[in-house]
Amino acid sequence: MDLIYKKESAYVRAPEKTEPAFAFAKDYMAFLNAAKTEREAADTAVKLAAAHGYRPYRIGDPVRPGDKLYLCNRGKSVYFLKIGSEPIERGMYITAAHIDSPRIDLKQQPLYESDGMAFFKTHYYGGLRKYQWVTIPLSLHGVVIRADGAKVEISVGEDAGDPVFYINDLLPHLAASQSKEPLSTAIKGEELNILCGSMPAADEEESDKIKLNVLNLLYERYGITEADFASAELSLVPATGARDVGFDRALIAAYGHDDRVCAYPALRALLDFGDENPHTQMCVLADKEEIGSMGVTGMQCQIFTDIMDEIAERLGGNPRVARGNSVCLSADVTAGYDPNFASVYEKRNSAIIGCGVAMSKFTGARGKSGTSDASAETVGRIRRLFDKDGVIWQTAELGKVDEGGGGTVAQYVANRNIDTLDVGVPVISMHAPVEVVSKVDVYSAYEAFAAFAKETETK
Ligand code: MN
Ligand code: MN
Repeated sequence: MDLIYKKESAYVRAPEKTEPAFAFAKDYMAFLNAAKTEREAADTAVKLAAAHGYRPYRIGDPVRPGDKLYLCNRGKSVYFLKIGSEPIERGMYITAAHIDSPRIDLKQQPLYESDGMAFFKTHYYGGLRKYQWVTIPLSLHGVVIRADGAKVEISVGEDAGDPVFYINDLLPHLAASQSKEPLSTAIKGEELNILCGSMPAADEEESDKIKLNVLNLLYERYGITEADFASAELSLVPATGARDVGFDRALIAAYGHDDRVCAYPALRALLDFGDENPHTQMCVLADKEEIGSMGVTGMQCQIFTDIMDEIAERLGGNPRVARGNSVCLSADVTAGYDPNFASVYEKRNSAIIGCGVAMSKFTGARGKSGTSDASAETVGRIRRLFDKDGVIWQTAELGKVDEGGGGTVAQYVANRNIDTLDVGVPVISMHAPVEVVSKVDVYSAYEAFAAFAKETETK
């Protein structure tokens, strides 16, 4: 009997998991490189599920036990469903992760030129630290709906031969007053302008010749005009791919770990093991978490309840009973303890890198405000389930009391009368252009979601 709880490196506790963890990391890194935006992540996830026999579902379609379905909502969020043989009123097993990440979006009239350079105006998306996004290579992703209604997809900056985009910063020689400003205001939102051209068009009349040249190139390649930016969603993300970190290659540096590092393992767990759990299961890959989970593709959207209720009714169950008996792992990242910035963490309750997937009973800030705070019973149930399958997990809290805080989609799921617990991967430098995670923690997350997908116990 272990009387003392201790966090321990997964490499020490289960050395046999190192090899499969490194193999899983390769798959995950390939997913990251293919999925730089929520649209690309939704597409990539749908293709992966389709290869595992999942087929499109629309609300209103009949469903039968054994069905493997997905509903891709407006190309940005996806609901994967495995219809189980257990009566639906015994509840669903749900995992919910998000596939949007902090980034820099173009405004609706973005293009201008000034003094030898053309730029795009932007509005950042999500809680990013602006000073981190200057002077790094950026790629442009998204869609433009042209005046004729045609949708044009754009991805520039990922291939080795592609150009990239860039945000200027001051040279140190002239940064004396900027350097005295706080980090939060040294680079301002309206200074995040994207350098996107510098060559004038050969045109006698037009005064803004560099801008015109950019528009010429965009028209040649995509058939779009300046007015078409009004109906576009174009985003800048770091142009770098996922890379191993360290001599031992135990960590992964990449853009968008938050929250594809939970989305990918959650989906893979359903695809790889979903047949073992006789309950109906759902894996949600949501959009808009970084800006409050609002709107038609966010986790607050009614479609989540609609799908659950519709499935329950089609299977002859009472949807309100089905929801009340359901359980959800809110699959989102937490802050990994960073000894370089020890003062903002309370070490005993922080997630330590390499010690497995992190379970957060509550998130929120200022006295647990804004958290659904899972019950002891729910934590007990999930903990038992993880331990039964040898999942390496640890408890976590995002930072010291009153130091800051954060939230996840857990609250929006729990508000629908579904027991929900936050379980996810600890991240170093969360929301930075390049974030870091541990390969064994990613693998522990996969094993945690797999334990859920294999669960046979009823509530
Ligand atoms: Mn997140
Ligand atoms: Mn986030």
